Amino acid sequence: MTNHLFEGLARAAEPEAPWLHLPDGTTWTYGDMVERSARMARALTKLGLKPGDRVAAQIEKSPEALILYLGTVRAGGAFLPLNTGYTPAEIDYFIGDAQPALFVVDPAARDALMPTAASHGARVETLDRNGSGSLAKLADEEAADTFSDVPRGPDDLAAILYTSGTTGRSKGAMTTHDNLLSNARALAECWHFTRDDRLIHALPIFHTHGLFVATNTVLVSGASMIFQAKFDAGDVLAAMPRATSLMGVPTFYVRLLQHPGLTREATAHMRLFVSGSAPLLAETHRAFEAKTGHRILERYGMTETNMITSNPYEGDRVPGAVGFPLPGIRVRVADPETGAPIPEGEVGMIEVKGPNVFSGYWRMPEKTKAEFRDDGFFVTGDLGKIDERGYVHIVGRGKDLVISGGYNVYPKEIEAEIDAMPGVHESAVIGVPHADFGEGVTAVVVREKGASIDEATVLAALSGRLAKFKQPKRVLFVDELPRNTMGKVQKNALRERYADLYA
Ligand code: ATP
Ligand code: MG
Repeated sequence: MTNHLFEGLARAAEPEAPWLHLPDGTTWTYGDMVERSARMARALTKLGLKPGDRVAAQIEKSPEALILYLGTVRAGGAFLPLNTGYTPAEIDYFIGDAQPALFVVDPAARDALMPTAASHGARVETLDRNGSGSLAKLADEEAADTFSDVPRGPDDLAAILYTSGTTGRSKGAMTTHDNLLSNARALAECWHFTRDDRLIHALPIFHTHGLFVATNTVLVSGASMIFQAKFDAGDVLAAMPRATSLMGVPTFYVRLLQHPGLTREATAHMRLFVSGSAPLLAETHRAFEAKTGHRILERYGMTETNMITSNPYEGDRVPGAVGFPLPGIRVRVADPETGAPIPEGEVGMIEVKGPNVFSGYWRMPEKTKAEFRDDGFFVTGDLGKIDERGYVHIVGRGKDLVISGGYNVYPKEIEAEIDAMPGVHESAVIGVPHADFGEGVTAVVVREKGASIDEATVLAALSGRLAKFKQPKRVLFVDELPRNTMGKVQKNALRERYADLYA
């Protein structure tokens, strides 16, 4: 048996082919990747890592952090990246839950995180944003740059990624070697990645998007990445003449649109812009096309399933839709309560089955069982519909659905109406307990800078456009919406804040 994931990822490229183009002008080749990850795997093994052991990491983005991921996979471990925004108190939950053998931290955070690591029996090593630290030193000291990969099969654990914690406490999603490899292959095929591609990588690497979607798709196709430690619109624009593609969250595109440098000429060398992780406003999609001539390709996925659907590479990329199931993946829309089939085109629960779907939540067998149907489909928690052309549309999360007076109200529809009003920057529509209606539709709005739009104006504008039961009972104004460290709006926090609004 080989090491299923690493073997699949490392096979594509020639050793002298470029893998990373770094900000200082140097290049790491695929040969460098193989040698460095071998040294890392040797060092991890020497530290006592055994197959199945977790390697947790809360570290800044660096090429060495990617090497730590690959070295862990080669050594047979499970990689467990943690959001750099988490505080030591939050980290305590993750380390206690995951029980890693090794916890890799930034040297500056070592003292603060030591007690947590010690109390949960994890060994601590360091790695900083420049790739230095005690772990890097151990890897450098290894005499040999080869490693005999620990054999791992398709169903063995490769990583545990915690979900973003948007709807409640983060859950550890157990991801196998073949979950990752099959998804990388599906994406490379769907998005036409080849050795000639150069992807601008400006995403964080503690999340499935930057770590797996971007990095694995590049590796499996033998392409290269222009490595940027964080997103900066100017830096991304500066890289475009040397690049072919960009993967981003919607905020990337909003920020690029605000930059005067975004023009048709600036993006002329690019062949593909991908968006995901959160809904891309149709308005952003259209504005980007008007400015650059490029139609952003939106895809949909989640930590538990990797990527599920994508708009087509060739064919119509529909603003507001997330496209078709990826090759080998089945998607259906079912009755949220029972899982029974529902008529085509109606809104229901999105369910998914395929080699991409994770093996379960870490140490939560009951929760895992509850989220799978008897025939093996995973219940995503997202509500959506499939239109007559087969495009999947997401209307929001099941947990965010508002039921008012017995009617289902989908927040996204109302948010889109409010967001389009002059003077509105963004909005979130939630359901708040209401004695008469069960839940009262409630809009929380952030004004554009200097704008003075008020409750009466919003309500008046909506009255001609939405059925009565969908119209908000109240419109509240705030300076900003609460977001988690992934930048996702936390509607549960808003529901708590306004729980007594109609009491
Ligand atoms: P938690 O599960 O802990 O509450 P989370 O669901 O935000 O957090 P992630 O796995 O990072 O954690 O995010 C997956 C979710 O992101 C999906 O279930 C979906 O709601 C949303 N999402 C991802 N891509 C898109 C997209 N293109 N359009 C709309 N929503 C998207
Ligand atoms: Mg989720």
